[in-house]
Amino acid sequence: MISGAPRPLLGMGKPELEQWCQQQGQPPFRGRQLHDWLYAKGVQRLDQVTVLPAAWRQQLAASVPPGWFDWTGRSQELHRSVARDGTTKLLLATGDGLSIETVGIPTDDRLTVCVSSQVGCPMACRFCATGKGGLQRSLAVHEIVDQVLSVRAVMGARPSHVVFMGMGEPLLNLDAVLEAIACLCGELGMAQRQITVSTVGVPQALPHLAQRAMERLGRAQFTLAVSLHAPDQRLREELIPTAHAYPIEALLEDCRQYVAITGRRVSFEYILLGGLNDQPRHAEALARLIRGFQSHVNLIPYNPIAEESFARPSPADVAAFRQTLEQRHVAVSVRASRGLDADAACGQLRRRLSGAVAAGGH
Ligand code: SAH
Repeated sequence: MISGAPRPLLGMGKPELEQWCQQQGQPPFRGRQLHDWLYAKGVQRLDQVTVLPAAWRQQLAASVPPGWFDWTGRSQELHRSVARDGTTKLLLATGDGLSIETVGIPTDDRLTVCVSSQVGCPMACRFCATGKGGLQRSLAVHEIVDQVLSVRAVMGARPSHVVFMGMGEPLLNLDAVLEAIACLCGELGMAQRQITVSTVGVPQALPHLAQRAMERLGRAQFTLAVSLHAPDQRLREELIPTAHAYPIEALLEDCRQYVAITGRRVSFEYILLGGLNDQPRHAEALARLIRGFQSHVNLIPYNPIAEESFARPSPADVAAFRQTLEQRHVAVSVRASRGLDADAACGQLRRRLSGAVAAGGH
């Protein structure tokens, strides 16, 4: 269905691309060509699609809607930061002059892309650099898919996993996130199981996510990661101001419902802040809180950000926290700190460069 405001091509499947070509007075097979060039070849602009008639290419280049770089809907790279371990952070420009971060993380046999779902974020978690600048807007489907294609082009490898752990709160942009997942699976051949959606929790949103995922994707097989970060409501509210409106018991109850509807286990993320939530008593309370829950806990040692003076956890405290959970039969892993030399904490690159970007520099 193409009506009203024009849509960028990225995000469309074959039938929609065929229809778009027909509306442009072209034969439908051009849509299949566009599909190949957009997704398999990763073309940035339609004038690079050399199989299209030259006159049509010129006409398209001259009629790009305002606020886009091209009909494809692709972004432009503003900055690239490559860490010694290969972790590559890209700052991408949207057509309307905003910037977002996306990160490619190579490990053994994987290439994970950490994508943003919003420009900025309204959740204002205290330890998070993105939250300091508030929300500018949510991203559209093409802007999410573009991040995966941009990392693929820059790193010269096919992404195996996508995690919605970049800027933004995915559950506040649910429709575009699900549509982007449909596109990654349908057009780029990824499997839902290779995709993770991470949320800090939005009241009423989890059952809605399960239901909408079933409707849009036929099943909900992506991994849901819930940023828990504290074993009790008081401490959680201290770190996550929005938790005030969403008691931890209600959040866990919604997680249980999500597991019941989707049959998938949930993973909990827990940022370790030195002295604040990383002590044995916190680990014991966490184990009690999620006892009997089909889940996995991912411990994330805090990456310091400029605006806050939280401490990094000591290696001994991280090890002890992990051991306390393991002794209580909680499945647990510790996220290796990757790319620390490349403005690792989410949102840091953009904040450091925001002056330069606003001034139009690189
Ligand atoms: N809004 C979503 C997704 C974005 S944050 C959510 O909160 O889950 C993705 C993960 O990065 C979260 O688990 C978050 O806690 C973590 N994170 C944010 N700032 C961090 C920092 N300074 N150090 C380490 N992890 C951080």
